Amino acid sequence: MSAAEKTNLLNLDRQAMQDFFAAHGEKPFRATQVIQWIHQYGVDDFDAMTNLSKELRARLKDIAEIRAPEIAQDQIAADGTRKWLLRLDDGNAIETVFIPEEDRGTLCVSSQVGCTLNCSFCSTGHQGFNRSLTVAEIVSQLLVANRALGRDPKDEPRSSQPIQGTTTSSAPWSVPPTPSEGFRLPPPRSLLEGGRNGPRSSRRREERGERIITNVVLMGMGEPLLNFDNVVPAMRLMLDDYGYGLSRRRVTLSTAGVVPMIDRLREECPVSLAVSLHAPNDALRDQLVPLNKKYPIRELLEACRRYCADSPRSRVTFEYVMLDGVNDSVEHAHELVRILRDVPSKVNLIPFNPFPQTHYRRSPRPVIDRFRDVLIAAGLTTITRKTRGDDIDAACGQLAGQVQDRTRRRQRLTARAGQA
Ligand code: SAH
Repeated sequence: MSAAEKTNLLNLDRQAMQDFFAAHGEKPFRATQVIQWIHQYGVDDFDAMTNLSKELRARLKDIAEIRAPEIAQDQIAADGTRKWLLRLDDGNAIETVFIPEEDRGTLCVSSQVGCTLNCSFCSTGHQGFNRSLTVAEIVSQLLVANRALGRDPKDEPRSSQPIQGTTTSSAPWSVPPTPSEGFRLPPPRSLLEGGRNGPRSSRRREERGERIITNVVLMGMGEPLLNFDNVVPAMRLMLDDYGYGLSRRRVTLSTAGVVPMIDRLREECPVSLAVSLHAPNDALRDQLVPLNKKYPIRELLEACRRYCADSPRSRVTFEYVMLDGVNDSVEHAHELVRILRDVPSKVNLIPFNPFPQTHYRRSPRPVIDRFRDVLIAAGLTTITRKTRGDDIDAACGQLAGQVQDRTRRRQRLTARAGQA
């Protein structure tokens, strides 16, 4: 069987993996075993999957593969934020960012190569769009980051200089992971058929106080709800106890407001929801987030109310980018309070992060604080997001990757800038 015909197992969530094994006459529990080897231990060599029979391992080598994108560039910011450029099979590249904090480690994951939405203040939008990512390409971002973060810290670069050409060939994947390699918990004894030949036991990384991915936010390149069919299985692997074992609270999907898909998400995979609002009225939001012309604020907020109705404790996080002189006045703050009155909400104010082709500026700090104080005085939980990793262009809205643009948007924008 040629490589092209092999099934890349990274594309399969639990159900799909069970279907795959059923189609080859194997029992469903093979799915959990293999998911655990791949996603918890980072193993990509079937020979290392010692609780599978020799025959099954040989068979898998014929019909399947475990193929993740390679790291093309690896950068660390002064504040510890780390950004990887991942090279895809077709020559495009996407970005993934790890943001370490005292009590957690957040991975910001991309869902598309570029974006179709063209929000006026977003760098990704200016790159144009090529395609949606596969399940494998989405979930591989966790796999690759886990592996990279698990390396001995003394091997990690200290400066923000990019490391060119790092490839998976140096990765410690083909051997069962040792405690320094960043994958967690040995398989339960039941999975190991009596505990033989499994990965070495190690204390949980959390207990050892090491950096680890505790949260995932789908806030990288792309609009996740316009790649629903691949984003949902990828999130199921993030939530799967045999995959990454994250709770629904710790997986956040951020959307510019694709209303019908918010309802589907609620039904099929209700993770934490963030909505990029950015303006308190339609006239302004139409300019900042063109998708608003299709799904205006009222419809968007109704979908948010429905989203929260099922679980009484849940709230939607509204993201609001602070653009100097555009959406940051006290009047805007009062208007925002009024429209969010009956939606269970939290507000994240994001100081605008500039990028080369933009004419927007970040609101000054006192203006952001004044805006925040109006919201807090009205009882809205509000935080101002810290700017992280901006020295390596890893902050919100700065992810650009390498998009082979098919929309000609970049050419149009460049031409327009030339005329001005
Ligand atoms: N398409 C999704 C997810 C990607 S953007 C969405 O729109 O939510 C992740 C967040 O960064 C969004 O809230 C987005 O509006 C914000 N963002 C985009 N460009 C930004 C910039 N230049 N500065 C600050 N935040 C930005």
